[in-house]
Amino acid sequence: MRNREALRHDWTKEELLAIYNKPILELVYEAASVHRIWHKADEIQLSTLLSVKTGGCPEDCSYCGQAARYHTDINVQALLPTETVLAHAKKAKENGSSRFCMAAAWREVRDNRDFDRIIDMVKGVNELGLEVCCTLGMLTEHQAKRLQEAGLYAYNHNMDTSAEYYEQIISTRQFDNRLNTIHNVRKAGITVCSGGIIGLGESTTDRISMLLTLANMDIHPESVPINALARVKGTPLENNPKVGIWEMVRMIATTRIAMPGSMVRLSAGRLEMTETEQAWCFLAGANSIFTSDRETLLVTPNPCITKDIQMLQNLGLKPMKK
Ligand code: SF4
Repeated sequence: MRNREALRHDWTKEELLAIYNKPILELVYEAASVHRIWHKADEIQLSTLLSVKTGGCPEDCSYCGQAARYHTDINVQALLPTETVLAHAKKAKENGSSRFCMAAAWREVRDNRDFDRIIDMVKGVNELGLEVCCTLGMLTEHQAKRLQEAGLYAYNHNMDTSAEYYEQIISTRQFDNRLNTIHNVRKAGITVCSGGIIGLGESTTDRISMLLTLANMDIHPESVPINALARVKGTPLENNPKVGIWEMVRMIATTRIAMPGSMVRLSAGRLEMTETEQAWCFLAGANSIFTSDRETLLVTPNPCITKDIQMLQNLGLKPMKK
């Protein structure tokens, strides 16, 4: 049954753990079956993510090369001019993207001229006919409303990891701050994009706990990015082991089963996956990727659009229309 009433918001940790730990073929079969009820299985949403302000962030997210306190090779970049951003958005649309996300490495949005410029960018990208998304850090209710009035379709604010493991990864803000911003976004009538990262040193229970937070929200996030840690030199997690493909497949399949109506985005970590491994993720229910002609995902390497279009053709998949 494909309707809102069929969505569950009362999952238990035990249920999601049991799903995550199923034999892999059974798990993928179940997730693929759910996926086919809720989505067109031959369509993949192409999204483009552009860093509009890079580096120099005061937060201490241990996985992030943009935190000012870590010595990484990231080039700090002030807020890009609006025309530059709109030129990127136009190119993304020509390349088949239906969604354009703008990211600024800020702890929170301030009511200043930079925010006014972001508002102009949102208006401009919206006028191009793209789904427009932003990730700018913490937002107040009033700021969320301004973004909504400018035409913002989605706001990304990842949970990152479980509430229990959160302070091991970030000490400059709390898990509840994240929930508060998501609440403000919802209240303003903007759709929510929220997921997490695996490979931070968390346990399986932490992964499930994070999914539980998302899956038991009153409304599931419309899009759920699942990231494998991109190990950035100079960050505290640079030497973490690479995330294995079956861990990624399990995480995606469990997300698909718990939140069947959401877009599940196979996000960071694709560059280290083969085409076959990515195909497993699509079979397990992922139906969105980030791509661009810049070969980067914010500040880490990512496959380029040409390679991605070739992969979709090889797999008999097609870009989703807006
Ligand atoms: S993840 Fe975002 S908030 Fe955290 S350090 Fe990086 S840019 Fe700042």
